[in-house]
Amino acid sequence: MSIGDNVRAVRENIARAAEKAGRDPSEILLVAATKMNGAERVREAVAAGVDACGENRVQELVEKNALGAYAGAPLHFIGHLQKNKVNKLVGVCDLIQSVDSPELIAAIGRRAVLLGVTQNILLEVNIAGEAQKSGVAPEGIWQLLDLAAETAGISVQGLMTVPPICEKTEEIRGFFDRMYRLYVDIRAKKRDNVTMRFLSMGMSADYVEAIAAGANMVRVGSAIFGERDYNR
Ligand SMILES: *Cc1c(COP(=O)(O)O)cnc(C)c1O
Repeated sequence: MSIGDNVRAVRENIARAAEKAGRDPSEILLVAATKMNGAERVREAVAAGVDACGENRVQELVEKNALGAYAGAPLHFIGHLQKNKVNKLVGVCDLIQSVDSPELIAAIGRRAVLLGVTQNILLEVNIAGEAQKSGVAPEGIWQLLDLAAETAGISVQGLMTVPPICEKTEEIRGFFDRMYRLYVDIRAKKRDNVTMRFLSMGMSADYVEAIAAGANMVRVGSAIFGERDYNR
């Protein structure tokens, strides 16, 4: 199977999941998680019509961007972000999905104001409260939203999560449902600089469940590019 074939297969699964949930397939955005795949392979995914590319590491993003890997598709950052790398992403990425602290919000806002741009971001939620994992705890999200509301240069466009690895489908569905409820709660309250347009959840193993629970942005890597070889 080629990358193009894989993208088409994933699209079909997305369409089926959307229809089953009574939703329009076109409202669900497919982000190709491109980590560890070279520029040529990323270009194949873009040519096959993914809605965006999501990169995990700042250095890899900068290198592949210089090679034109993402040309023709919006570029997202989806990995763990350190404050000292923010300047490499602001104004370069269409969406920074993994913002999870007051310090990051402040740093992104400062850089965006300096460049005269508005940076779109998602807030990453650690929905299961796992130690050592990126993302703000669900109860901490309100403080970040209040801060975002008064920070120039940023626009919060929604939420993102990477739930724990679960053996059972019902278990992962529980985390996705909790995210959806949080998304709806936030959406009901008006704040400056905050709109809940995107709920980014679901990866190769579970994007169908995520869509059933209300995701409208899924991040798919290995189902498009094949298994990653971590020994390279
Ligand atoms: C790698 C990655 C994905 C995609 O994972 P697959 O299981 O390969 O689909 C999605 N989101 C994030 C944040 C990732 O790091």
